[in-house]
Amino acid sequence: MAEKADLLGMTLDETKTFAKEMGEAAFRGQQLYGWMQKGVPIEEMTNLPAAFRKKLQTECTYRLPRILQKQVSQIDGTIKYLMGMLDGECVESVFMRYAHGNTVCVSCQAGCRMGCAFCASTLRGRSRDLTASEILGQVAVIGRDTGERIGGVVMMGIGEPLDNYDNTVRFLHLVSQKEGLNIGLRHISVSTCGLVPKIYQLAQEGLAVTLSVSLHACHDSVRDRLMPINRTYPIESLLEACQQYFDKTGRRVSFEYTLISGENDSIEDAAALAARLRRTIHGPCHVNLILLNPVRETAFAAPGRERAKEFCAYLEKRGISATIRRKLGSDIDASCGQLRLNHVENANPKYK
Ligand code: SF4
Repeated sequence: MAEKADLLGMTLDETKTFAKEMGEAAFRGQQLYGWMQKGVPIEEMTNLPAAFRKKLQTECTYRLPRILQKQVSQIDGTIKYLMGMLDGECVESVFMRYAHGNTVCVSCQAGCRMGCAFCASTLRGRSRDLTASEILGQVAVIGRDTGERIGGVVMMGIGEPLDNYDNTVRFLHLVSQKEGLNIGLRHISVSTCGLVPKIYQLAQEGLAVTLSVSLHACHDSVRDRLMPINRTYPIESLLEACQQYFDKTGRRVSFEYTLISGENDSIEDAAALAARLRRTIHGPCHVNLILLNPVRETAFAAPGRERAKEFCAYLEKRGISATIRRKLGSDIDASCGQLRLNHVENANPKYK
């Protein structure tokens, strides 16, 4: 049986062509596209003829996620969502307010198969990739729910974007469409744990997104343990790929470094990190230091704030731009992936 058309995965031109194929005028496609970008369900697309809406409901797939759960921070307005997909899979998305505008953090896979030792998202592996439309749908639904303009996106939720490469690239095209959500590529960050060949591939796409590399260690022996991907692509090869990304795109690479007590947070670690970055990266880069958000299923702990400050000051002294990431929503503080994990475990008691 032919696959149903994926409405939210279409550009404006594709939606207009599709409307014509369904026997409607092109402007109906334009109306449909406008509604979809606002995260509106088909039954509420009031200016479309009822017969057309019915046809869309029966003959197409509209992968708009459903909000299953929502936690709102009373401190800074951060909102964490558990989003349900049509087939019952669920992921997390976050709405964050910054001085420079609102940003949404999206998930790109249901679960993750990368196996990082400190991460809740990977504890049950990966169920499946999300489609580009499901990733876009998270932004559209949050725009509707908050009623606010979204100016930036970070692909830092559940999943590894470069392990779902084609859908990630398609999403980047869709979300930056002028006629649609119109989020500039310069306001989008794509995170990766270090899939080196895909970094080279992304550098060729001509997309001016920021690459945000989850580094988390400066010695291969430690990174091998924390992030299994390092056994295939060790730190030096990862940093060389980052340099190539900068050379091709001119975009500053940012490194995420989660401080884990006794694992990677000593001043010797800071010295080794500074030395490596200075040796390999010739261009602007920035280190975001993050205090670990402990996952109850693991034994890792965060160091104290003072240690983070010393680590940061050391990097700066060595000429490496670094900041300690401000914690948003500390009253809704579950680590990324924990909300989904709880949901999956409650739905399947055998996992408990
Ligand atoms: S940190 Fe990212 S890449 Fe690693 S397991 Fe978690 S979601 Fe996957």
